[in-house]
Amino acid sequence: MSSKRIEIVEVGPRDGLQSESQVLSTDHKVEFVRRLTAAGLRRIEVASFVNPKRVPQMADAEAVLAALAPDAAQARFIGLVLNVKGFERARAAGCTEVGMAIAATESFSQRNQGCSVDEGIASWLEIAALARAAGIRAQVTISTVFGCPFEGEVSPARVVEIAERLAAGQPDEIAIADTIGVAVPTQVTGLLRALQPALPKTKWRAHFHNTRNTGLANAYAAAEAGVSALDASCGGIGGCPFAPAATGNIPTEDLIYMLHRMGRDTGVDLPALIDTSRWLQSVLQHPVPGMVVKAGLFPKTAA
Ligand code: MG
Repeated sequence: MSSKRIEIVEVGPRDGLQSESQVLSTDHKVEFVRRLTAAGLRRIEVASFVNPKRVPQMADAEAVLAALAPDAAQARFIGLVLNVKGFERARAAGCTEVGMAIAATESFSQRNQGCSVDEGIASWLEIAALARAAGIRAQVTISTVFGCPFEGEVSPARVVEIAERLAAGQPDEIAIADTIGVAVPTQVTGLLRALQPALPKTKWRAHFHNTRNTGLANAYAAAEAGVSALDASCGGIGGCPFAPAATGNIPTEDLIYMLHRMGRDTGVDLPALIDTSRWLQSVLQHPVPGMVVKAGLFPKTAA
């Protein structure tokens, strides 16, 4: 049985915006995060501390964190880091939580972060120790766990082996990510059933993309399998301007609509989040992929 409360990690300001072709102003990003906080989201991935030449949308990471400093008591602002240098930037910027990503496959690790899986794990262990000493929460995501664009299928045994090595860093949470949106719900259930007994004390989070329209079904499977948190992006923004078939994360409003109607509690004010999604459409000047923002609430007075 899954517990009633489930935490939502809003990744729109990072994973979502990172794939938008239009670079948002720092003021718009800060307003986006403030609206999300006002809607009740308490963990928000706000920036990535990576090479700004590779990800121009995240070049103002420090400025976004500085502007959000007065709001830091209301939510944990997460910075994504891929190496120790990135961690040092996130710490200096005032992130209260850092998330690192480790690829499940060698090819994706080399292409995405320019290092081997072993080197990535070594960096994670170093970052985890530095974060603990600094009083910063640190979690780690294993990406491409359900499939790799270069190597194809990924075996659950491989993911379990990586998770066990990451757990040596005492992460606050380990996330499994369907980075390219290929998973189906039975895979999600199967992987969590392999991971949970291997690491019984670990808190699990799951991250899905809706590339093949299975994102919400995968989130349902993960929620039922007992993850304590799910990632989602407001409006379902994301997708890559250079890959027409790519789509964003699962839309936060759609996920929350489903969870609330299932009797799960998220602490998020759904009408306020829908308003934020509408605001986001006006800023981005294009419709967002989310469905609930178009269809509206049911019943109309639901929260
Ligand atoms: Mg992602």
